Amino acid sequence: MTAAIIDGKEFAAGLRVRVGEGVQAFKAETGSVPGLAVVLVGDDPASAVYVRNKGKQTVEAGMNSFEHKLPSDTAQADLIALVERLNADESVDGILVQLPLPGHLDELAVVSAINPDKDVDGLHVVSAGRLASGLPGLVSCTPLGCMMLIRDTLNGDLAGKEAVVIGRSILVGKPVAQLLLAANCTVTMAHSRTRDLADVVRRADIVVAAVGRPEMVKADWVKPGACVIDVGINRVPAADGKTRLVGDVDTAGVSAVAGSITPVPGGVGPMTIACLLHNTLQAARMRRGMPQDRRF
Ligand code: NDP
Repeated sequence: MTAAIIDGKEFAAGLRVRVGEGVQAFKAETGSVPGLAVVLVGDDPASAVYVRNKGKQTVEAGMNSFEHKLPSDTAQADLIALVERLNADESVDGILVQLPLPGHLDELAVVSAINPDKDVDGLHVVSAGRLASGLPGLVSCTPLGCMMLIRDTLNGDLAGKEAVVIGRSILVGKPVAQLLLAANCTVTMAHSRTRDLADVVRRADIVVAAVGRPEMVKADWVKPGACVIDVGINRVPAADGKTRLVGDVDTAGVSAVAGSITPVPGGVGPMTIACLLHNTLQAARMRRGMPQDRRF
């Protein structure tokens, strides 16, 4: 078997178009457009690139983008005061504080200061609680992106499937497992203490690898025909002395066994910003008591 490649880049482009249409419908209904505020503290170059891309794609989707750049020595109280101003600002529907923050700042306290109804990154404990309780709320972007790709690949037919999620972080593993559970999969969460990991993974119809270990999942771990979602982003030495990106899955080997697989790069990665735009539109609708957009 040669696995079908799950093209996250193409899916994300389609999602951005649907969000753009959703924004136009929102504008027609309310006379306003959703707004996303992104807060960047410090001058980490990778974070600056992410923030720039987020702002650009927000504007392209027809929404307002508000960027707040603060110096790296910003005091905790000043950062929280900004978050509180954004909470109170009616033109802001989504707030994202770019992580990681400089070491002297308490990330949990800052994220906890965000109004959960504007928590488009889905990292607030209230967002995690809503997800675990099956209540409507905002789901963090990478897990949401994984789920959209899985649903699309399996034509929504997830009930009763065995899903194994490798990794139990708050950012990826736990929310992905909750989403799969909500879709009626039988979910196993594996982690660094899991015994016989290969045997556990081998029973999965759906594998989500979110570990951060280059090419850890091998072909003989995977059930023939399984859907394999590779969240990992790892930089490894390349033959030319530079580096290249690989995931947590041995893509070449696993592709011979799996039914479908996300590449790295070009799989889960491109979904993250598209899902942020999706969440901003959903937050704007939820805050006004409007139902979920049926386009999604
Ligand atoms: P964390 O480091 O927070 O979590 C890694 C998880 O993997 C932990 O639960 C850990 O277990 C588990 N783990 C580590 N080693 C093993 C092992 N040998 N066997 C089984 N499980 C193991 O990472 P994140 O969840 O934040 O990210 C995971 C990967 O996804 C990274 O490569 C990251 O770069 C990537 N990523 C990609 C994104 C994207 O947009 N595509 C977004 C976010 C992350 P334990 O809990 O026991 O320590």
